[in-house]
Amino acid sequence: MPSTNGHSPKRAILYARVSTDEQARSGYSLAQQIEALREYAAREGYEVLEEVQDPGQSGASLERPGMDRVRDLVAGGGVSEVLAQDRDRFAREPAYHYLLRREFEEHGTKIRAMNDRGDDSPEGELTDGILDQLGKFERAKTAERSRRGKLRKAREGKVIAIHTPNYGFKYNATRDGYEVDEEAMRVVRRIFRMIGSERRTLYAVKRTFEGEGIPTPGGARFWHAKCIRNYISEDVYKPHTREEIMAMVDAGQMSAAVSAALDPNKKYGIWWFNRRRTRRTQVSEVGSNGERTYKKKGQYVHRPKEEWVAVPVPNSGIPREWVDAARDVLKDNSVPSSAGRRVWELSGGIIKCGECGRNMMIHSVLAARAKGRRFYYRCRTRNRDGAVACSHRKCHRADQVEPRVWDLISRLLKDPERLKAGLNEMIEQERAGLRGDPDQEAKTWLEKLSEVDQERRGYLRLAAKGRLTDEELDEALAELEDARETAEKELRAVRARREVLEALERDRDALLESYASMTPAGLDTLSPEERHNVYKMLRIVVEAFPDGSLNVTGILRDSFVSENQDEGVVLAHYQVDLPAPGSVVALEKFVTVLDQIAQGEVFTPCSGGFILQSPTPA
Ligand SMILES: [Zn+2]
Repeated sequence: MPSTNGHSPKRAILYARVSTDEQARSGYSLAQQIEALREYAAREGYEVLEEVQDPGQSGASLERPGMDRVRDLVAGGGVSEVLAQDRDRFAREPAYHYLLRREFEEHGTKIRAMNDRGDDSPEGELTDGILDQLGKFERAKTAERSRRGKLRKAREGKVIAIHTPNYGFKYNATRDGYEVDEEAMRVVRRIFRMIGSERRTLYAVKRTFEGEGIPTPGGARFWHAKCIRNYISEDVYKPHTREEIMAMVDAGQMSAAVSAALDPNKKYGIWWFNRRRTRRTQVSEVGSNGERTYKKKGQYVHRPKEEWVAVPVPNSGIPREWVDAARDVLKDNSVPSSAGRRVWELSGGIIKCGECGRNMMIHSVLAARAKGRRFYYRCRTRNRDGAVACSHRKCHRADQVEPRVWDLISRLLKDPERLKAGLNEMIEQERAGLRGDPDQEAKTWLEKLSEVDQERRGYLRLAAKGRLTDEELDEALAELEDARETAEKELRAVRARREVLEALERDRDALLESYASMTPAGLDTLSPEERHNVYKMLRIVVEAFPDGSLNVTGILRDSFVSENQDEGVVLAHYQVDLPAPGSVVALEKFVTVLDQIAQGEVFTPCSGGFILQSPTPA
């Protein structure tokens, strides 16, 4: 007869749980747990009300059949304690222990683990609350920690080593400063000499280097005008005078201590830190075949100048007058010409090269015969990298290609039934492509996120108890951060897929209401901007081929092929003009134009002296 110390016997529920993982391990089987609990209950003089088991249940949440039974029994009253082998049997997460303890206390019930030492003290509760707070704090801190550390290093005048240093430099032994890499710097110096001193073009530099077989810094064969342009504007190559450096000290961009360590008689390049930050968003696009792609779009956002940090680096040895002259040249180069004012209705990813698949670029040329300007679409790959990169030499006259495409599409708009059928089919395909149930998927990833939070608190608890070193904690938290990023990425993807569907439905309604109901005569009065919008809503892609034929695909199920009608045009010289901002119809289009400027593909008219040699002279 067990001892009750003169009180009425304590009434207990025995609770045992194994997860699927643990079932395979010894010492954790349900039978072993129940056996141990029975012995314990007998020894301590408990009256056992019921034995509850949760086979194959995780301790990550409280949602388990056995635990439901326990909570029902406790709520029924008359239970003194719920007994388990250890605390983990109730839940892995301290926050759940806390919740359970509070819930049971209302019915006069305690939770007890065989290995407990009376751990339901107020301190225990306090720790849980603190851990919650600590978890939040720690998460924010982890994100900030690395950036702050780098910022402090940069303020001490040190370069922050990344994957590769600026071309022409190499890291010093401690990887916190630059040394000139003479061999590579010779190439950079040559860029500045060609553009700043010899007044050659970006394109000439590209061609010369490619002709001589000089590989790009990344080891590639083709140089990008954009990269060459970037060197010109990089302050790391520009020798700064003492006065210029002192101005940075005054502006709060360099500490007095860092400037004091410099030789006042020498010039220095400047490596900037903290000039901008990246804002990342995920965007989804639908191709003509209904296939979705998801892209990360990064956008640089400049920080205020006083937040910039100037880190002095060794002089590149490039004469200052070359640097200044090269920058002047490129500054003039980016002034947009008003001569190109026109709306390019097939730009923004609608017209693509039928040979290499790349979006075509726009350009215009002064044509003496036409007593004005002619506008063309041409292969961007060939323009940039020459005939070896793409065989598509034809320049497609915009005033011929655009009406041909519109002719096809307006015919479709004049047949609303067919249009509607095509649109609905597209939407059905998209819907069918949403694997499973997006709501369920979103829920799963949300749960994963909360799981990550729970695990984080678990690690912090271990660390608080001194069972993890700082390094181990950092490593564990970094791993959790990866898991969090994955879950967040998937969650965004689920949302993006839903948005694609919603956008399609919106576009269908707009097309059917606004355009398909127009009279044929009304359709023919649509402006180029409106046509561009119609193409976008229909997900139109026009492939242009060297023989002048066009392949038009989109929401319309079957594709049209339009035969060549115009004579081929091959240009000896060409220029690219920027459509004036007022004529830019859509964001995508604007982005394309910006992209061209960035790649050095948009240039000023002849008056500036910048005619580019075409790779395919007539
Ligand atoms: Zn091409």
